[in-house]
Amino acid sequence: MSENPWQPLLQTFEKISISLQTHLSNFIGINKTRRSSPAVHSPVISIESPLPNSSSTSNSAQLPIKEKSTGPVTKEELGRATWTFLHTLAAQYPEKPTRQQKKDVKELMAILSRMYPCRECADHFKEILRANPVQAGSQEEFSQWLCHVHNTVNRSLGKLVFPCERVDARWGKLDCEQRSCDLQGSSFHI
Ligand code: FAD
Repeated sequence: MSENPWQPLLQTFEKISISLQTHLSNFIGINKTRRSSPAVHSPVISIESPLPNSSSTSNSAQLPIKEKSTGPVTKEELGRATWTFLHTLAAQYPEKPTRQQKKDVKELMAILSRMYPCRECADHFKEILRANPVQAGSQEEFSQWLCHVHNTVNRSLGKLVFPCERVDARWGKLDCEQRSCDLQGSSFHI
């Protein structure tokens, strides 16, 4: 028996430590490089994070990637991906949205509350929307509203509440050359 008997225990501690670091840095949003990296969530792609291509090895030299075998995503992965989409949408939302854009985000939220592919989450979100009608009169209003409803979900799951004054630091505009991803609004509020 040449193998170190403590090896499995040490490996487990290492995994827990990486996972904790990932979650903490995700929550406080300290990793600014995230925006220009395909690894949207954290500097470390943890075992919980889905990979675009699970057979990818191209950047394994720089990142301690723990690959997850392919298979269905979890409720948590789906949630993180959806919040990323929604907060990025809010960051990109125009300062002066058109009537159509305001209507679209309200419809999007209503559709999410019916079609979100986790039924308990969708039902829960429907209740949250009823108590907190969408506010999307401006970019700031929409991103603050979204932060508030995300916190409502966080609280119900026993998670920490995110400080909404930091939402722009956590979810800035999409890193896109020459602002080519910006959504066009109107020059006045309609
Ligand atoms: P997430 O909550 O997914 O957040 C991702 C990142 O966003 C965090 O790492 C943090 O940096 C940042 N963040 C956190 N809070 C805020 C905030 N308030 N404003 C801005 N940024 C923030 N799961 C359930 O088990 N039951 C449910 O009923 C349920 N309902 C859901 C409803 C919706 C509409 C969505 C999109 C998801 C729902 N989920 C639900 C999933 C759940 O919200 C989480 O996505 C999942 O548990 C993973 O959580 P997380 O700790 O990784 O961070």
